Amino acid sequence: MPSLKTRFAPSPTGLLHFGNVRTALFNALLARKEGGTFLLRIEDTDQERSRAEYVQHLQEDLRWLGLDWQEGAGGEGAAGPYFQSRRSAVYEDYLQRLEHEGKVYPCFCSAAELAVSRKVQAATGKPPRYSGRCAHLKPDEAARKKQEGLPYTVRFRMPKGETIVFQDMVRGAQRFPSDDIGDFIIRRSDGTFAFFFVNAIDDAVMGVTHVLRGEDHLTNSPRQIALLQALDLPVPGYGHISLIVDPKGAPLSKRSGSMSVQELREIGYFPDAVNNYLARLGHTYGASGLLGLDQLAALFDIANLGRAPARYDRTQLDYWQTQAVLAAAPDFLARWMWDAVREFVPEGESRAFATAVRDNVLFPHDAKIWAEAVYADALPLSPEARAVLDNAAPAFFRQAAELLTPEMDFKVFADRVKAATGAQGKGLFLPLRAALTGQTFGPEMPRLFPLMGFERARRRLSEHVLSTDID
Ligand code: GLU
Repeated sequence: MPSLKTRFAPSPTGLLHFGNVRTALFNALLARKEGGTFLLRIEDTDQERSRAEYVQHLQEDLRWLGLDWQEGAGGEGAAGPYFQSRRSAVYEDYLQRLEHEGKVYPCFCSAAELAVSRKVQAATGKPPRYSGRCAHLKPDEAARKKQEGLPYTVRFRMPKGETIVFQDMVRGAQRFPSDDIGDFIIRRSDGTFAFFFVNAIDDAVMGVTHVLRGEDHLTNSPRQIALLQALDLPVPGYGHISLIVDPKGAPLSKRSGSMSVQELREIGYFPDAVNNYLARLGHTYGASGLLGLDQLAALFDIANLGRAPARYDRTQLDYWQTQAVLAAAPDFLARWMWDAVREFVPEGESRAFATAVRDNVLFPHDAKIWAEAVYADALPLSPEARAVLDNAAPAFFRQAAELLTPEMDFKVFADRVKAATGAQGKGLFLPLRAALTGQTFGPEMPRLFPLMGFERARRRLSEHVLSTDID
C-alpha cells in the first residue's frame, strides 16, 4: 500500500482565494492526518495567463497559513520538475505510447466543422460530443494531410459502449457512459496538451493517491480514468468537494465577498482564523473551539465533507477571528497590532497593552482607539463620553483626583470614590471611564488603568475638575 499522497495543483493565473485555498487546506489536512505527503504542483500550461509572481504569491500564502508542502515546486522531490511547463518531455513520452497502441488519432476537423456538428447535436437533443469523423482515417491518409500542413489535434479513442464507474470519495458511486463522452482532444493543434491529459499523468507518475478538488472537475474524472487505464497507470481516488456559494446561493465571486488570501492577510486576519473557518466550510467538525492545524488534521474526515454547496458567511469568519485574537500569544498579538499603535504605545509596553485590549480588537486598526485612550497626551473625547462628563456632579472628579495615589489598583480606587461620593454602579463607573479614556465603552478598566499610570490618570481626572468647576 503506497503511503498517502495528496496534492494541490493550482494554475498560477491569479491570487489564491477562498475557493482554491480551501481545496489546498483539505488536501494538506488529509496528508497531515495520515502522516502522508502533501505535494504542490504548478499547472502553468497556459503560458499566456500564467505568471511567475502568482507562483510566488501562492507559495507565500500557503506558508502563511502553515500549509507547507513536503514535495513539489519550491521544495525537493524525486518526481519533478513540478511545473507543468517544464514537463513536456514526460507528456510527449506518454502520448507516443498511446500512439503506438493506436489509442489516439489525429483529427483534422476544423473549428467551424465542429461547431456545426455541435449545433446539429443540440438540435436533436444529443449530448455534444465528437462525431468520430477522423477516427477511421487510414494511416496514409492522415500522413498525407499532415504533410500538406493541415492543422490537427490529437484525440483519445474513448472505449465504446462502456460505463466508467468510480467511487467518488465525497459523492459516492459515479457512472458515466463512455459513449456520452466521445473521443476528446488531448493535444491541441498548437501542440499544447489538454488539462485532462497532463493533470492525470502527473498525478499518476507523481504517486498521488488522493485527489480532493472542486466539483467543477467531476465530469473530468471519467476522461482521466479512461486515459490512465489506457496507459496502465494507477488511478488516484477522486473526491469532489462542493463549491462555495454566496448568501444568495450563487457561486461566490469577488463581488459577493470572496477575498484573496493576500487581502485577508492585509486586513489582519490570523492564519488560524482563516483555517478554522475554511476547514468548517463544507466539512463538519464535532469540536467547536479554535483548533490548531494538527487538531484540524486529526479530526478531518473525508466522510464529513458535505455534498451540498457551502455557504460563505463573513460573520462566521469574523467569529473565528475573535477566537484567534483571544487565543494569540502576547508576543504575536503585540507584533500584529504594532504598526497601528506605535504612535502611542511605548515599545516596552506593547505586550501588556495588546493583552489588555484584545477583547475589544478584531483587527489591528481597532487597537488604535485604545492606544489613544490609554496613552494620548491630548485625550480625544467621544460625543457619548462628553455627555457623560457634562452630566456628572462637579465635585465628583475633584474628589476622585484627590483619592488617587500611585500604584493604586482600579478596584480599590473605584471603591474609595464610591465611598466618598456616594456614586455607584453606572453612575460611578461610566464617568470614571469617560474621564480616564474618553470613551463610554471598551476594555476592562482594571486592565487599562495600570497602563495609564498615576500621573496621566490624575491629569485626566483633574482636567474635568476644571471644566466642571467652571460650569
Ligand atoms: N489546475 C487545476 C485547477 O486549478 C487543477 C484541478 C485539479 O485539482 O485536478 O483547477
